[in-house]
Amino acid sequence: MNITSAKFIKGVVGEDQILNDGTPQIAFIGRSNVGKSSVINSLTKQKNLAISSNTPGRTREINVFLINKSIYFVDLPGYGYAKISKEGRNQLRELIHWYFVTSTYHQEKIIFIIDAEVGPTKIDAEMLRILEEQHKNIVIVANKVDKIKPSQYTQKMQIIHDFLGHYTIVPYSSKKGIGITELRDIILEKRKK
Ligand code: GDP
Repeated sequence: MNITSAKFIKGVVGEDQILNDGTPQIAFIGRSNVGKSSVINSLTKQKNLAISSNTPGRTREINVFLINKSIYFVDLPGYGYAKISKEGRNQLRELIHWYFVTSTYHQEKIIFIIDAEVGPTKIDAEMLRILEEQHKNIVIVANKVDKIKPSQYTQKMQIIHDFLGHYTIVPYSSKKGIGITELRDIILEKRKK
């Protein structure tokens, strides 16, 4: 199955009727700058659907996209951005916590994006722990594999597997188009005929 349509619906900052309308939710989360918006854009074959954390504006909200007129991609704000104020960081953390923990919304899957070259960081581990406590269905996307030197590829991927091996891990490059089909199949698998 392919992604044939993708449309921005709205940004939410709290309880919202559309998140209760029964449409399955696939959430995307990652540290600021891991390439989360690039991953969403590459998956949906759209250049500017999701907005980079580096762009002011929509990035402090939870952005909801309707995919194939049947599922929501729920794009959480990037966390751990050093350049915003402590208060701003706390607000983002609270918003993410609300969506995953306090609210009763169900995520069919959470696409947890890390930077493959950097590897899993302490702040990634903290976020992951919160999601694990909620028994979420997590898929790891190791983005930016194109940045890894060939001589270091095995070692870098081994680190990721040692740390996150109990999850499905998709090596990905939104820049080079690596992993797109695999990730799309994982997201849409239940809908395959
Ligand atoms: P976000 O803040 O997580 O939404 O990240 P963006 O999608 O805005 O990407 C942050 C930076 O990483 C941008 O400069 C992108 O061009 C770059 N980037 C994203 N994906 C890739 C990738 O797969 N490979 C490489 N080399 N760079 C990437």
